[in-house]
Amino acid sequence: MTGLRVAVVGGGIGGATAALALGRLGVDVAVYERRASVPPVGSGLGLAANGRRVLAELGLGTALDATGAPIGTMRLLRADGTEVAHYDTGRLLGMRRADLVRIVLDGLGPGVVHQGRDCVAVVADTERPVVRFVDGSSTWADVVVVADGLRSRCAGAVATPPALRPSGTSALRGFVDGRGLPDHLSTGQNAWLGPDRHLLSYPVDRHGTLNFAAFVPRPAGSADEWSFRVDAQTVRDAYAGWDPDTRAILARATEVYRYDLADRDPFAPWVRAGVVLLGDAAHPMLPHMGQGANQAIEDGAVLAALLDGAGGSADVTERLAAYEATRRPRTDRIQEQSRRNGERFSGARDLTSGGDRGPTQDLSWVYGYDAGAAGRAAAAGLRTS
Ligand SMILES: Cc1cc2nc3c(=O)[nH]c(=O)nc-3n(C[C@H](O)[C@H](O)[C@H](O)COP(=O)(O)OP(=O)(O)OC[C@H]3O[C@@H](n4cnc5c(N)ncnc54)[C@H](O)[C@@H]3O)c2cc1C
Repeated sequence: MTGLRVAVVGGGIGGATAALALGRLGVDVAVYERRASVPPVGSGLGLAANGRRVLAELGLGTALDATGAPIGTMRLLRADGTEVAHYDTGRLLGMRRADLVRIVLDGLGPGVVHQGRDCVAVVADTERPVVRFVDGSSTWADVVVVADGLRSRCAGAVATPPALRPSGTSALRGFVDGRGLPDHLSTGQNAWLGPDRHLLSYPVDRHGTLNFAAFVPRPAGSADEWSFRVDAQTVRDAYAGWDPDTRAILARATEVYRYDLADRDPFAPWVRAGVVLLGDAAHPMLPHMGQGANQAIEDGAVLAALLDGAGGSADVTERLAAYEATRRPRTDRIQEQSRRNGERFSGARDLTSGGDRGPTQDLSWVYGYDAGAAGRAAAAGLRTS
């Protein structure tokens, strides 16, 4: 038992994982989530080996394996369906985002997650950091973890993040019933790359559901909203004339959401007076390495390992600084490479040059990372210094 009291703002993938990892170490942790419940639908995502490693160490391996869809192979295709390359995905698990969040939240004990709690501000520089809610109430903690996502409201307690940087691309996303489609569509990950757009599909459960994400130039004159439902025909029109396999998938789409993509330049600091940023609130990245959630999960493991056994506030300050120092070089690099992959995947280059389009890069440095071990090594380094 460390006696440390931690409040987490945001019960998404990053906040929930951090809370679970801290709770496992006996830390008194509470999560404050704006939504009243986990949205039942949402989109899909790929849980990569680096994220799976963390969640397996937290005891969630069996639940994840029973829910997600293992994806062995990624096929890289031209718009007409001819294959350019295929490669091993390194233990990728396709999941519904809602399933993943629910599995992590279920790992937390009763009373840890407070849903329907909309945080309006986090105040640092008081004796202890304070979280303020929209209903006028507030709470304090020794450490406040700000994990409220890409459009973080509370990150301002720590830093002035650079403005969101729209990528000029929208993702049209949805699920389809993949039963009856050929095996190479229903079990694998497929990426069709065309001149100014690309389409990704992969399974997300054990019942034949496929997720698709169709990346297209952001339509001119778009509204200020960044996420909303569109007519399903929009995505079919965007890929008219492509590989019949893409049309077979998109013909089944009924509910399609448009999500306008943006990231930020890497920024610092992530830590101030007991308040620490985590996940997209710290390092929002484009989805073209499939690492945003995986990096948020890694953050949680490293933060927990460093806070294990923390004492007074000077000790906490040193440990939080070590968290930032451990995480930033890696997330800076992944943010940068995610941008470059976006340019490559939707670039006008001839696909026969295949290797420079991204997927054939050596990604062992991404997937092979053991965040729990990295956090424990950083903590041991503090003890010996
Ligand atoms: C098209 C697309 C595809 C993607 N595919 C992948 C993929 O395959 N693999 C991958 O790893 N990542 C992927 N990502 C990225 C991934 O979704 C994010 O990086 C990840 O969700 C970040 O987790 P987070 O916990 O930091 O933030 P979020 O998941 O956004 O969670 C933030 C939480 O905070 C809550 N919140 C917000 N404001 C407040 C407030 N004021 N008070 C209280 N609570 C609040 C929100 O309701 C939410 O629950 C993809 C993203 C996109 C757009």
